[in-house]
Amino acid sequence: MDYSSMRPESLMMSYGYKPSLSEGAIKCPIFQTSTFVFNNAMQGKRFFEVAYGLREQEEGEEMGLIYSRLNNPDLEILENRLCLWDGAEDCAVFESGMSAISTAMMEFMEPGDLLLYSKPVYGGTDHFINHFLKKLNIQAVGFMAGETKEEIIAKINASGRADKLAMIHIETPANPTNAVIDIDMCAEIKAHFATEEKTAVFSVDNTYMGPLWQHPLQHGADLVLYSATKYIGGHSDVIAGACLGSKELMGRVKGLRTFLGNMAGPWTGWLLMRSLETLKVRMDQQATNAIHVAKFLNNHPMVEEVYYLGNTAKHGTDAEKAIIKKQYLSYGAMISFDIKGGEKEAFAFLDNLKLIKLAVSLGGTESLAEHPETMTHADVDPAEKKSMHITEQLVRLSIGVENYNDLISDVSQAFDAI
Ligand SMILES: *Cc1c(COP(=O)(O)O)cnc(C)c1O
Repeated sequence: MDYSSMRPESLMMSYGYKPSLSEGAIKCPIFQTSTFVFNNAMQGKRFFEVAYGLREQEEGEEMGLIYSRLNNPDLEILENRLCLWDGAEDCAVFESGMSAISTAMMEFMEPGDLLLYSKPVYGGTDHFINHFLKKLNIQAVGFMAGETKEEIIAKINASGRADKLAMIHIETPANPTNAVIDIDMCAEIKAHFATEEKTAVFSVDNTYMGPLWQHPLQHGADLVLYSATKYIGGHSDVIAGACLGSKELMGRVKGLRTFLGNMAGPWTGWLLMRSLETLKVRMDQQATNAIHVAKFLNNHPMVEEVYYLGNTAKHGTDAEKAIIKKQYLSYGAMISFDIKGGEKEAFAFLDNLKLIKLAVSLGGTESLAEHPETMTHADVDPAEKKSMHITEQLVRLSIGVENYNDLISDVSQAFDAI
């Protein structure tokens, strides 16, 4: 079949799986096995040569199955399918989003190096950068949405380690404020500091936009990272992560994954394959629902400000509008807003929701609400929180697949109950 002309959503049920190899089963079985039997010793030797990079894979030679820490059909087929959404050459699936992020960072940086990162980033990533990497003498320079290329370059130069810039890591739109960062601009910053011997690796945590609504590799990123716990898994029942990029970079990421042993297991792989079959219909519905909920919030007297890409596209600065136009295929399904008042009003709103659940995480089929200032971002330095507009008033919503009229009724009655 000519797969190249088909859209990813058409291929999520079949791509990379041969029923004839599994008794004709229409669905990929769960290969709940730790190890794989070789046909003969020479085959085992040849599989290991490729797996450990002792020789190049020959034209048409398939990577042999060895041991489930190195590879497993449920992971390999899932990885092949994930590659389709981002147009990536290769993918590695991990047991969590944090393990995907931390493994990539450990592979591409060493003591004495410099990391440039956008603020705010996911709390776990922030902690890893500012505690664990700091302990390894990896220095981090942060910047916020809205800072210009020249300002960021000046910051890197001021660090004293400009020649050691090894990685750039960003999240856009930022969680929880939906502030947008220009991916192309970050690629230009990378190019500015590149030398003949050395160039930084540029990664984008694309969790907030799922694999559908933003494709960072097309804008000059080297790696795309996901918490697959969110849109990819999409049912709030599995923790997983993914990293995608070129064959060359992914060879290194997979190498470290083999030795850290933080790959996902076959059951997780199977669950994520099942989730991918409905990824597009779920995310389309979530984005449509979000348009309606945002419209309701925009007009509600208890709401001071709504942070949603659809609003930025209308009322943002020219620079923000330009980023949204070139980078996003949807306004997404994450909405934050400032409630009139403070923590008391925000908590009363959250405590009165009935259909929408009070929980962190995002991207699942059910709508969730939380209070970033005291929950997901509790750990962030108070002054930084203020500068990033993570205040007492801020409430974050992840919009699910419910009927949007019911979501709006729930939000409406929660305001009334305050
Ligand atoms: C949840 C999340 C992570 C961490 O992923 P886990 O699967 O919980 O380890 C990383 N980045 C972003 C943006 C997230 O939302």
